[in-house]
Amino acid sequence: MDHSAEGAAAADAPRQDDAPEIRPLPALVIDQIAAGEVVERPASVVKELVENALDAGARRVLVELDGGGIDLIRITDDGRGISAAQLPLAVAPHATSKIRAADDLDRIATMGFRGEALASIASVSRLTIRSRSREGDGHQLVVEGGSSSGVRPASGAFGTSVEVRTLFYNTPARRKFLKTATTEQTRCVEAVRHLAMGRPDVAFEVTTGGRRLLELAGGQSPRERALDVLGRELEGELIECSADRFDDARGMTMWGLVGRPSLARATNRSQHVLLNGRVIRDKTVQHALREAYRGLMEPGRHPTAVLLLEMTPEAVDVNVHPAKTEVRFRDSSMVHQTVLRAVRDALRGADLTPTFTPREARPASEHAVLPMQQSNGAVTMTARDFTAFFKRQEPSSGTEPPSFEAMRHTLERGDEEPTGSAEREPAPDETAPFEATGAEPIIESKPAPSKLQVHDSYLITQDDEGVVIIDQHALHERVMFEALLARVSEGPLESQRLLTPAIAEATPTQIDGLPRLSGVFAVIGVEAEAAGPRSVAVHAFPSLLFERRVEPEAFMVDLLERAERETFDPDNEEALRDVLDMMACKAAVKAGDGLSAMEIDALIDLRERVERSSSCPHGRPTSVRLTLRELERLFHRS
Ligand code: ADP
Ligand code: MG
Repeated sequence: MDHSAEGAAAADAPRQDDAPEIRPLPALVIDQIAAGEVVERPASVVKELVENALDAGARRVLVELDGGGIDLIRITDDGRGISAAQLPLAVAPHATSKIRAADDLDRIATMGFRGEALASIASVSRLTIRSRSREGDGHQLVVEGGSSSGVRPASGAFGTSVEVRTLFYNTPARRKFLKTATTEQTRCVEAVRHLAMGRPDVAFEVTTGGRRLLELAGGQSPRERALDVLGRELEGELIECSADRFDDARGMTMWGLVGRPSLARATNRSQHVLLNGRVIRDKTVQHALREAYRGLMEPGRHPTAVLLLEMTPEAVDVNVHPAKTEVRFRDSSMVHQTVLRAVRDALRGADLTPTFTPREARPASEHAVLPMQQSNGAVTMTARDFTAFFKRQEPSSGTEPPSFEAMRHTLERGDEEPTGSAEREPAPDETAPFEATGAEPIIESKPAPSKLQVHDSYLITQDDEGVVIIDQHALHERVMFEALLARVSEGPLESQRLLTPAIAEATPTQIDGLPRLSGVFAVIGVEAEAAGPRSVAVHAFPSLLFERRVEPEAFMVDLLERAERETFDPDNEEALRDVLDMMACKAAVKAGDGLSAMEIDALIDLRERVERSSSCPHGRPTSVRLTLRELERLFHRS
């Protein structure tokens, strides 16, 4: 068939439907489209070129920027270089020295493998590569608007220098999206900082107009490098974490530094997650990290973190996105678990109480973990503490409340009316409000520090470091939450059968959703059923909420509302935590509740024995510390 004749005829004939003609694109446009995915801004060029330098075995990488990288990016390395014969191939699309066959995609050990970056960058800039390998002399190649000059001799040291000028000069749409030179420059430096985390052995330098923006010495340990990148002054704010699950081909190792909650930021820019040296953005890792900080930080904040993950290349697919920052783990739940555990354990082992001391005035050594708060991850509360803590009653209203033992007895006998009559109208308990902290006397070598409640809301005490001010509600909530969490791992919570069911209002959708909640109900000791198109009857209710005078109706209304949230998945352990969290909040002493001396003692004592006591389950701090040093400063004594 004569294609051209047919084409001409088709072009001449008036097209009724105005169907656009299909034509193959010119090579330059193809490259520019590809560049759209890889080269978004100067920082992406920096990333690709630094990766190339690292793949070439560089020990030093110098990045020079002009106009935020928009006018010029020049990256010089001392790697193995490119021979004269190979130079044109380096800028050809889909040409790479890093893989040969499809199989190789399953075990990528280099940063690059797509053979696309240089060609893409060359299609949207004026690019010059100068290179000298060990074998030969130096030479260079210039590419502009997709067409390249021939290879010409050039002088130069061993290694490669890639110069990218006037980025997006021929794609004005892209250029319009660029931010100010200052912003682009910041992003370029950030790209180098990210990559540098994974290669502490390599020296990096970033300059602009002769000014040094970043300088990192080579031959560093991962810790030294991480501190140099994040800032040495943060050393005391960072906690080391590690994991080693490298027991089989699917395993992984991890080392990291994670910031105290007080170091959290509004963006995730101070998070560095690298996999085998590759900077990645991965939902699984992000989620695990967020989970580890759950309750330690207000929602929407991002912890500072450096996480260096290593695994065999076979266990991960990096060929997911042109920018190569997304990956697919073969065993993502293992990755999730490993990261979560390592970070959570590290946080548990540290004293996270924030201090008032301004950062500048604080020598790093002052951040040493306090012995008092050092908890090694174990919940040290006894069952006794737990029950005692929920026994707080509002003072004055007549009859003696049932003891916990009496209640348990009642429960064991089934649905009989509990001893005492006052389940729903608890009575005074002036003598042993919290029953302090159990039977064992607290042995102390020196008199206990004085403790004080102010404005019926805050508790004040001292520790080795200074003065500690505690938000009584936040701390009690945390204590309750940890106790509940520990308690439910032993079995369902004790519950109290109601003489007459409490009737809570509910929407028809909430009522339809009731069966989904049966698992959660069973664990927390709630028995409830639909009692009409718009009401739910509560027949049994957790004893401890009862004792804390929480109304079953109000509790059920809140619980049903929470269960409607999109993120609430009753099959997930998180849902239970969510509910326990809510229980803890409702049961905790409130701001404005006057506490007896014994209660104050008990609460402060528990602070030292409960995990994550430095913040409430929502992440707000439970306590702040005014250090002696800071007091001296305030009183002009130092
Ligand atoms: P990729 O990195 O995916 O292979 P690139 O387009 O980034 O694709 O680079 C193409 C090829 O050019 C690389 O495979 C490599 O052989 C060579 N190359 C690029 N940059 C350098 C460098 N700085 N030093 C040595 N070789 C390089
Ligand atoms: Mg590359």
